[in-house]
Amino acid sequence: MQILFLHGWNSAVGGIKPTFLKTSGHTVLNPALDHDDFPAAVAQGQQIFDAHQPDVIVGSSRGGAVAMNLTTGPTPLVLLCPAWKNWGTTDRIAASSIVLHSPDDDVIPYHDSVELLRNSGLPPESLIAVGQDHRLADDESLSVMLWSCELLGSGRPLPWIDPDTNLWEAENNSDRPTHSEASYVCDACGEEIVVPVDLSEGSRQTYVEDCPVCCRANLISLHVDDDGRLRIIAEPEQDQG
Ligand SMILES: [Zn+2]
Repeated sequence: MQILFLHGWNSAVGGIKPTFLKTSGHTVLNPALDHDDFPAAVAQGQQIFDAHQPDVIVGSSRGGAVAMNLTTGPTPLVLLCPAWKNWGTTDRIAASSIVLHSPDDDVIPYHDSVELLRNSGLPPESLIAVGQDHRLADDESLSVMLWSCELLGSGRPLPWIDPDTNLWEAENNSDRPTHSEASYVCDACGEEIVVPVDLSEGSRQTYVEDCPVCCRANLISLHVDDDGRLRIIAEPEQDQG
């Protein structure tokens, strides 16, 4: 498929992420965006989008804000730690979007993406916690980015979204261990908390748990992704009201 990749601030064209998408067999449009003039960068992105009508748009950091400020109709977005609070005027994204963000990102707060999903009325599953830092250039982040592009570009919904058929759960439950453990980063104190997970309770669970370190209540959302890996997101409970 054809992917428009919008790079981050002062990132070079042809970096590890667009190169990974290219070597995975996709056509990648990777325009150089103006580093100083944000409206000029949006205009450059819009021009490439209009000329090529790509299947998916990937925007990394400032490039994520560029993607959000384009006029792209229903074209799916895959946003990597989008810097939407720093640049542009848009504070929401369309339903056919996936956001990847590391809870350990020290450049753009993970919570900015939590807020973006809430603004947009998207389910927590649309935000995937992955990676160890702002770059999202580790192997797991790269493969989740590719998975997100191929899923949305094919027009399929997120696999856990269809409660009627639930084929995904039926197909995948057979050989998966039902007990596991996973970890999340407490939003209040930043400690990594390891929790036991009983997958026989379902592959999507939401519950409130007090952080064993700082005792603040976190809303824990967990799900099992397409590759059978556990994903956990923790948010402060009071944000839910
Ligand atoms: Zn805590």
